Amino acid sequence: MTIHQNLIAGEWVGADGVENINPSNTGDVVGTYARASAEDTKSAIAAAKAAFPAWSRSGILERHAILRKAADEILARKEELGRLLSREEGKTLAEGIGETVRAGQIFDFFAGECLRLAGEVLPSVRPNIGVEITREPVGVVGIITPWNFPIAIPAWKIAPALCYGNTVVFKPAELVPGCSWAIVDILVRAGLPKGVLNLVMGKGSVVGQTMLDSPDVNAITFTGSTGTGKRVAVASVEHNRKYQLEMGGKNPFVVLDDADLDVAVEAAVNSAFFSTGQRCTASSRVIVTEGIHDRFVAAVGERLKSVVVDDALKAGTHIGPVVDETQLKQDTDYIEIGQKEGAKLAFGGELLKRDTPGFYLAPALFTEATNEMRISREEIFGPVAAVIRVKDYEEALAIANDTPFGLSSGIATTSLKHATHFKRNAEAGMVMVNLPTAGVDFHVPFGGRKGSSFGSREQGKYANEFYTTVKTAYTLA
Ligand code: NDP
Repeated sequence: MTIHQNLIAGEWVGADGVENINPSNTGDVVGTYARASAEDTKSAIAAAKAAFPAWSRSGILERHAILRKAADEILARKEELGRLLSREEGKTLAEGIGETVRAGQIFDFFAGECLRLAGEVLPSVRPNIGVEITREPVGVVGIITPWNFPIAIPAWKIAPALCYGNTVVFKPAELVPGCSWAIVDILVRAGLPKGVLNLVMGKGSVVGQTMLDSPDVNAITFTGSTGTGKRVAVASVEHNRKYQLEMGGKNPFVVLDDADLDVAVEAAVNSAFFSTGQRCTASSRVIVTEGIHDRFVAAVGERLKSVVVDDALKAGTHIGPVVDETQLKQDTDYIEIGQKEGAKLAFGGELLKRDTPGFYLAPALFTEATNEMRISREEIFGPVAAVIRVKDYEEALAIANDTPFGLSSGIATTSLKHATHFKRNAEAGMVMVNLPTAGVDFHVPFGGRKGSSFGSREQGKYANEFYTTVKTAYTLA
């Protein structure tokens, strides 16, 4: 049995591991991956600390070349890596390959950013003094990622961390270590010096917690649940370290009477159910004005008839399985809760049997939901959505904003007035007009507000706010 090992101080280490199981076929073991201990994690942090002085002063061309080489390899292997992703996480093959391409594009983007590092030179308010403003790396960055984007999220954290001269201790979600192992392997072969990037696969409560408790981790970037995000925050305040959190969402998708029905249905079905609803930008609250409500619900029901839920790797599958048994239970529990609360389960929600044993769930759509119900307030993170009927645009906007979260917010309308008003007034980090709430570009800021996010934005050039610290230098002429 081959074990995919951890990478600590440039050495592949680890003798025993855990099996990575395919959620489309629980009899299929994707691979065995090492499980790091607290001691291993401490060694990884020490290695990253030791590697920092040299890497932070490395030339921008060296960093550019490594990131560029990694981008090229990820893109060249998109079919193979996309297949690995779909096999370990349960996204369809098209989604797996698409996410892999995005990871390659992110490395390519930050390869370019290495060559665009810049500062400012200003006159002082005092005579004969010059002022220079520069950005310097933060130090050792701890990266903790979730299971739902196994290659894109690691890419959008690792690429900027390395680009701006930081060293890294990386802990992927235990459920999906395959793609993370693959990109670390690619980066090492692309020429990263020993200790600059360390991979510690294993349990959040052991590996993640050791990172949170270490005074030598200078910054932590985290994506995952709200509960773990709060632990990251508390521990980071304790250590006076920089931190960045991307957590849950309860993203609204508003459909107005004047919407193009086909556009609205396609965007709503995509937002709620594609990638099995397991996206922090998924919409699970569909807020529909009364003039279009019945036509919209009927059309979504019709559309769902042609949606195929099956093995993620099978041609023709639109929606793969839920990621694991725990998440499936969370989804079915919420389906029960919704019914008990008085919402009507209009479509789907039943467990499905397929040729292979997997966690298959028919996309569930509730109608007659209110915004006070738990299914409208709590993140479910599965193919479960609820339609809330409202009188008009004003009520739709109020309900869209009535949530503890604020990641993404969408609207379907042909009215310029309402689209413009919604863009200005939606309390979310990202707003979509006539587009699904999920599906974002890699070169522009990503993030939310309220309970969804904390700290500076990820992705695009805005990433430098987290991965660098500003220095102001004064010189007497
Ligand atoms: P978690 O927050 O538990 O996991 C995210 C990451 O944090 C994983 O790498 C996990 O490790 C790690 N972690 C867990 N405990 C600790 C700890 N004490 N200290 C440091 N790191 C830790 O989320 P899950 O992946 O288990 O998902 C649970 C729920 O979170 C989902 O049902 C969904 O509601 C939400 N979620 C939201 C996401 C988003 O993008 N908004 C993404 C994923 C989940 P390990 O995997 O080893 O436990």
